[in-house]
Amino acid sequence: MPKKQMSAAELAAKKELALAVIERLKAEYPDAACSLDYDHAWQLLVSVRLAAQCTDARVNVVVEDLFAKYPNVAALAAAEPEEIEAIVKPCGLGHSKARDISACMRVLRDQYNCQVPTTFDELLKLPGVGRKSANLIMGDVFGKPAIVTDTHCIRLSNRIGLVDNVKEPQKVEMLLWQIIPPEEGSDLCHRFVYHGRAVCDARKPLCEKCCLADICRTAQANQAEAQS
Ligand code: SF4
Repeated sequence: MPKKQMSAAELAAKKELALAVIERLKAEYPDAACSLDYDHAWQLLVSVRLAAQCTDARVNVVVEDLFAKYPNVAALAAAEPEEIEAIVKPCGLGHSKARDISACMRVLRDQYNCQVPTTFDELLKLPGVGRKSANLIMGDVFGKPAIVTDTHCIRLSNRIGLVDNVKEPQKVEMLLWQIIPPEEGSDLCHRFVYHGRAVCDARKPLCEKCCLADICRTAQANQAEAQS
């Protein structure tokens, strides 16, 4: 059965909660940045593909060799997928990641003069690039409004109460667009990653140490249960 639409009052309450979360996390993590290292937009495209089911820290190590051997789009586009796979294998899923990276770099070379396209829809058409990656590029590279619904964003949004038991990334993204000021989206998602790693762990959230405890739905529910 389709979920009912949020009422105006529910929407207003979620917007208010979102603003409070944004302010608290800004104070907690003043610097919001992507934890993937890159100097050029095309490098972030490569790294974000490698980051699927792999840690950002490992990706940052692996791409050092990759970018040293293939220092620009043309060089990487000219490489055979097998050559790329040999380097990116430690990130897991080496075969499919290498195939996507190769195809993506060849599209950049052949259709975009070795540049990364600047619109969301064009990014989304690149091989191996989904909404999460396209949003990351829009926000981090081009400074445009973006909401990156990775595992931290989805977990925290549900726990805090910004969305209600929604796990599908695109649905979470669409709901967050309704309640987050667009210019805050990209930085907020980076801060969700920091907070998810430091405090709101997937298995063991440290609610007693959390700067959101008094406004977080999950912490409030747990507290009420403990008192009953
Ligand atoms: S209060 Fe607990 S559940 Fe809520 S965001 Fe903080 S750590 Fe996560």
